[in-house]
Amino acid sequence: MSDLYAVIGNPVAHSKSPAIHAAFAQSSSQDIDYKRLFCELGAFNATVQGFRAAGGKGLNVTLPFKHEAFELATRRSARAEQAGAVNTLSFDGDDIAGDNTDGAGLTRDITANLGRALRGKSILLLGAGGASYGVVGPLLGEAPAVLVIANRTLSKAEALVQRFAALAGACRLTASGYAALGGQHFDVVINATSAGLAGDMPQLPERAFAPQALAYEMVYGKTTPFMQFAQAHGATVADGLGMLVEQAAESFFVWRGVRPQTAPVLAALRGETSAARTAD
Ligand code: NAP
Repeated sequence: MSDLYAVIGNPVAHSKSPAIHAAFAQSSSQDIDYKRLFCELGAFNATVQGFRAAGGKGLNVTLPFKHEAFELATRRSARAEQAGAVNTLSFDGDDIAGDNTDGAGLTRDITANLGRALRGKSILLLGAGGASYGVVGPLLGEAPAVLVIANRTLSKAEALVQRFAALAGACRLTASGYAALGGQHFDVVINATSAGLAGDMPQLPERAFAPQALAYEMVYGKTTPFMQFAQAHGATVADGLGMLVEQAAESFFVWRGVRPQTAPVLAALRGETSAARTAD
């Protein structure tokens, strides 16, 4: 019988994870069965225990359950502890291991797929929600010279900076509101806000992008105002599809000990996305 995995969330019907993991399994000859698992709010623990009882080996956890997954884990990786959230659960006997692969997915997409080294660079991270908590540790791990976290609600950016201050090393890690960014410009600007989902964008100064800057939008599947703004100001633009595939690959590695090839999966998903856009 195939080893059983799933992505658990609410909603979960839109998730591309089953297709991504099926492609990983096929290309790496791993015998897995990966499903979507819808979970009612308030029923996370019971749903996970039911999945385990049915022989489940691991779960990807998506919104809104990453904090509950953190609490449920009996053992957590350092990056899960840093993020305060878990997106990957592994079951082994009574043990529930929790990990967070979002940040590794982002840094791998930027450095390996997009070919942008982050060492010594200046990075602006927009947003101070769950996604930002997941990526600050791995971003600092790349040893940038500057990491500014800007958020609409300044106190949340300040709390995030405080949480990671001990990991900053030589990096100048600071919090900011959008207006206070002033004339600063950055080599990499990462939009980790959910503004794009509502057709909005943070109030970013026009000069935020340094020459040849990379503008990275975590949202995928649509062209957001941030992407349009960045392109109009000369930046190279990327969406979050690569991050999605790379965080999945990192989870696959956690579970199976095999690092799957991601480029063909990303190319196939990009083909589907542009075909869907054409059909629109
Ligand atoms: P979240 O916890 O709800 O945080 C939302 C953030 O967006 C907050 O910082 C919020 O600012 C900010 N925001 C929302 N609307 C805004 C607006 N109109 N103008 C300025 N700021 C605004 O969400 P999250 O979990 O961090 O997720 C953020 C985004 O990342 C989502 O769109 C999600 O789909 C995406 N994501 C993608 C991947 C991937 O693999 N590609 C992985 C994880 C997340 P305030 O604090 O001021 O409210």
